[in-house]
Amino acid sequence: MWESDSDTGSRSASSDGLRRRQGWDPEAESLASQMDELDEVLAEEEDGCPLPSTPEDQHLLDAEMAEVLKAGVLSDEIDLGALAHNAAEQAEEFVRKVWEASWNVCHFRHLPRWLQDNDYLHKGHRPPLPSFSACFASIFRIHTETGNIWTHLLGCVAFIGVAIYFLSRPSIEIQMQEKMIFGVFFIGAIVCLGFSFAYHTLYCHSEMVGKLFSKLDYCGIALLIMGSFVPWLYYSFYCHYRPKIIYLSVVVVLGILSIIVSLWDRFSEPRLRPLRAGVFMGFGLSGIVPAIHYGITEGWFSQVSKASLGWLVLMGLLYILGAMFYALRVPERWFPGKCDIWFQSHQIFHVLVIVAAFVHYHGISELASYRVTVGECSMPPSSIAF
Ligand SMILES: [Zn+2]
Repeated sequence: MWESDSDTGSRSASSDGLRRRQGWDPEAESLASQMDELDEVLAEEEDGCPLPSTPEDQHLLDAEMAEVLKAGVLSDEIDLGALAHNAAEQAEEFVRKVWEASWNVCHFRHLPRWLQDNDYLHKGHRPPLPSFSACFASIFRIHTETGNIWTHLLGCVAFIGVAIYFLSRPSIEIQMQEKMIFGVFFIGAIVCLGFSFAYHTLYCHSEMVGKLFSKLDYCGIALLIMGSFVPWLYYSFYCHYRPKIIYLSVVVVLGILSIIVSLWDRFSEPRLRPLRAGVFMGFGLSGIVPAIHYGITEGWFSQVSKASLGWLVLMGLLYILGAMFYALRVPERWFPGKCDIWFQSHQIFHVLVIVAAFVHYHGISELASYRVTVGECSMPPSSIAF
């Protein structure tokens, strides 16, 4: 596992030599790139992966901790008087804390199987961090998840701020009913972004915690889609009671179905990435049916249609674009190992989700203010059918 400096040095030198010879030997080019890869591996193995990635590593860690304890006791570094009470446990806890604080990022191939998700991201992965405090402390370190964590943490805080502002308006400005309808959307957005932040922070804790939070992450997406549909359907079919109830019921059923699929144990497997993108995209695109219905009944180019459908189309395009980045893993697919920390597909997907959610908020705000200016329905809602 640990290569000597001289060994690494000689390999680098041979790689450099091959690079210089590229001009006259075409075969050298591929050999040089292989050498580069080898250099990368060796460089990676030099700083290694200090926390256990595999059961064998766990044994190494245990043995090493026992050594540290023994050395500490023998050299009087550990005060036996102070540690009289549960001495071994306290010292072990101390050593574990030192290990937790001093972890290094890992190469993809050093990760245990349950942490191997995107093989186009080569370096900078967190090792398993089997403590919640270490996972939360990792928010402030640079690794493959830093961008994912912060995009949705900041998005979540932003939506909490908007929700507090909106819900605290005096009721002359925004009525209670409006607040409740928008509240459903805010809950969807805040829960989705919050669960996503929690997932990206904690999934390296252990296989069990990772699985649990990935399920919550997917449930959050389903809740965001459901929460986005509610105010849009409510205001679009404001005076059309029956279609409103039918579409809202369909959205709830589809939402529950996608939550059930999300809770399926194998749904988070890397090879099911396109299925995941497909399930949520299909759920979102089911909005095409009420949108066409709406366009036909209200007229495609009426003022209210523009307010209702214009922003909706933009939001849909942003979500679809985000799902494409997510499923295709672009740009890291084209530049493997070059987007390990920044500009990877998942970060772009996260940013597009936040932008789409804000676009939707703007769209439903316009729709609601239009509804308020038009006034009450001209006929009692119960007498209005399709
Ligand atoms: Zn995510």
